[in-house]
Amino acid sequence: MGKDTTISWCDSSVNPTMGCDGCELWNDHEKTCYAGKLHDRYGGVNRGFSPTFEQLTLHPGRMAKAAAWSDLRGARREAKPWLNGMPRLIFVSDMSDALSRDVPFEYLKSEVVENVTSTKGRRHQWLWLTKQPARMRKFDQYLEGLGIGWPRNLWAGTSVTTQPTVARVRELIQVRARIRFVSAEPLRGPIDLSELLAIRVIWGASSFGKTTPLTETEPAVKLVIAGGESGNSAHPCDIGWLRSLQHQCLSAGVACHIKQLGDRCIQNGVHVPVRDSGGEDWSEWPDSLIDLRMRQMPRSA
Ligand code: SF4
Repeated sequence: MGKDTTISWCDSSVNPTMGCDGCELWNDHEKTCYAGKLHDRYGGVNRGFSPTFEQLTLHPGRMAKAAAWSDLRGARREAKPWLNGMPRLIFVSDMSDALSRDVPFEYLKSEVVENVTSTKGRRHQWLWLTKQPARMRKFDQYLEGLGIGWPRNLWAGTSVTTQPTVARVRELIQVRARIRFVSAEPLRGPIDLSELLAIRVIWGASSFGKTTPLTETEPAVKLVIAGGESGNSAHPCDIGWLRSLQHQCLSAGVACHIKQLGDRCIQNGVHVPVRDSGGEDWSEWPDSLIDLRMRQMPRSA
């Protein structure tokens, strides 16, 4: 069994690197990134962490270990029935950003690409999330220069929090991944992705050395995950923002996964109380939010 996670859109997580360059959630003015806070507590004490969050460390061997985790193809998940029947879904980099500037492409090729395409690694789907999709695109170009296709079972994802950060999705769309996804969590304002979700592409990039026939178009982005912020200092998340993203997905034929309401969810100006941390347990969501109980995943995985 792998490293289990309660995150609703995956089964497990793995970190080929630890530490990060930072983003809007971790900088001189704000320190709210969960991974950064854990580094502040355990960095320099626990060898699994970087000495400081700003100091990138490489952890070769973790991806190979993850590749050897049990095969979940066709398995049922009691706690996450929306994943039933899928392969093991492994979140790559929940405690780091492996596309941080000091991580060499040679390392990402040997540690990430070679393990996800190994005989064991191919049994799983790997969901690689970054806030540096421009560097992910450069990494893809590096692979292309070596004659290597983007692995079919390696999803490429980026995180957005506000409308200005949506520019990341334009970079993401340049990556040759079969499945691209957007994580809009923590959602800190209304986000309009409709123009980007309407982009359709012809899937023809080579993967595992084979080329798929150019027969039909698909949405360039196949999944949007959305959720409010967790924690005592969470920013508010308006239900209208979540509903808007849900409608944008439905209009574009893109899978929509409402992960959580967050700890400061607002509906019509009124706080929606949740007992469960982060508001993930939809059994306690009020009836007026029943339409948001939607946790879709792309089925072409
Ligand atoms: S990019 Fe991700 S890991 Fe890095 S500081 Fe931001 S939220 Fe944290």
